Amino acid sequence: MNLVEVPPSAHVCENLIAGRRQPVTKGIRRDIVSPYSGTRVGTVGLSSVEDVAAAVAAAQAAFPAWRLTPLKERTRPLFQFRELLTRHLDELANLAALEAGKTRDEARAGLQKGLEVVEFALSLQNLDDGGALEVSRGVTCEARREPLGVVVGITPFNFPGMVPLWMFPIAVTVGNAFILKPSEKVPMTACRLGELMVEAGYPAGVFSIVNGDREAAMALVDHPGVQAVAFVGSSAAARAVYARATGHGKRALCLGSAKNHIIVVPDANEAVTVRGVVDSFTGCAGQRCMASSVLLAVGDVDHLVDGIAAEAARIQLGKGMGALIDGAAEERIRKAIDTAEKEGAQIKVDGRASKPPAGYEGGHWVGATVIDRARPEMECARSEIFGPVLTVIRVPTLEQALAIEERIPYGNATSVFTSSGAVARAVADRATSGMIGVNIGVPVPREPFSFGGTKDSRFGHGDITGRGGVEFWSQLKKVTTKWALQSDASWMS
Ligand code: NAD
Repeated sequence: MNLVEVPPSAHVCENLIAGRRQPVTKGIRRDIVSPYSGTRVGTVGLSSVEDVAAAVAAAQAAFPAWRLTPLKERTRPLFQFRELLTRHLDELANLAALEAGKTRDEARAGLQKGLEVVEFALSLQNLDDGGALEVSRGVTCEARREPLGVVVGITPFNFPGMVPLWMFPIAVTVGNAFILKPSEKVPMTACRLGELMVEAGYPAGVFSIVNGDREAAMALVDHPGVQAVAFVGSSAAARAVYARATGHGKRALCLGSAKNHIIVVPDANEAVTVRGVVDSFTGCAGQRCMASSVLLAVGDVDHLVDGIAAEAARIQLGKGMGALIDGAAEERIRKAIDTAEKEGAQIKVDGRASKPPAGYEGGHWVGATVIDRARPEMECARSEIFGPVLTVIRVPTLEQALAIEERIPYGNATSVFTSSGAVARAVADRATSGMIGVNIGVPVPREPFSFGGTKDSRFGHGDITGRGGVEFWSQLKKVTTKWALQSDASWMS
């Protein structure tokens, strides 16, 4: 099996405020439940407005000195953090797997991507990101990149380590004091990352964790001491957080849900397509915002659809695929497959009957599912299912495939599998998503390129991670200086 062992309830997640573990003031706690087994593996405190105020006050106290610390010096603890992250990668991956239901390999891969963001943040000290020009005789104009102040990241359940790592290494390196509000379903990995940030030597208050649910999230968004909010989660919550934060005049970037399409055409390489599509829709049991959800099968591609179905049917739960986050997710996914069947689609591979791994019957499991001959207006072709389900829509032309892709309200990823440069180019030019894959099923941009979608997958401007992350977490200050001694030279002369 590719799962980690489920220990008896052991983890007690507390807030990290002013560099110390602090229990929530009202003593309200929530169970952390392993998706593998449905059993409790720990508890987490749920923060109130008072806990949020304490975290913001500690961050505000840390910010002035941190902001004035030279960038090279601010980067020093990040070198230490990188070492700790590398040393503890297996431990962190085990925590992420345990609380989010991932396989061991998937959890590791997510953290590796997080490590890549840390390494990008380490390079910021050597980038010329401002610039100066002599704009007139003896007068220099200089742009300086400056932090925003106290900033917040609110993260989802499906990548307990990676999504926080998308945010805080860049945010703190450019000089902010960062407060993380992890998903209340998966706080253990984040809390361990917090301990490693303390061990790395960050000053108290530069990195904080406020655990809790939407109440804590909104208290952070509303707090007048918070300057910027990054959010990753469902579109409904992303829209609400964006409206609230920008209503307060704050900077906000809120990434939301997805319904990603893969276009396959007859000249696609069979082995590459089958592997790429199956990995894309079954990885993390389909619980990732870059998972493919709809296959637009153009022309005569029966051999490719059959190959994908055969490969998907071979996946065993607990080996090639992990569990679903909770009972609500399992119910939603089973219902989506039931509805597709009722609406007349063909269930080509049926994951509803897949057996959970022995000993994990109390967990939440659905096997890989392929729904064939769906129509674009069906529920399974329109709504985010967020499970290991691929909906196949047959279309005669690439033109029709692109028209379907355009009508979807989400815009995270669109991929094409083809051997033709012209087809690849047409999809890259015309697809409406923010991230495009050519013969890649999960086209997550690598650093320094930034992650971000379009349409209802993103509220706000810009991207997170990479150069976009630097832009989001900072502002430019322009300094115009005259050192010329002649008094007749003005700033315009
Ligand atoms: P979610 O929206 O339920 O929760 C995300 C975070 O927001 C959690 O920390 C939660 O406590 C908080 N929250 C929930 N409702 C809130 C509200 N009304 N106001 C303020 N905060 C609120 O999302 P989830 O179920 O944890 O994650 C799955 C969703 O996230 C999927 O829709 C998936 O597509 C999306 N996702 C998107 C990306 C992306 O980059 N676009 C990445 C990962 C996940």
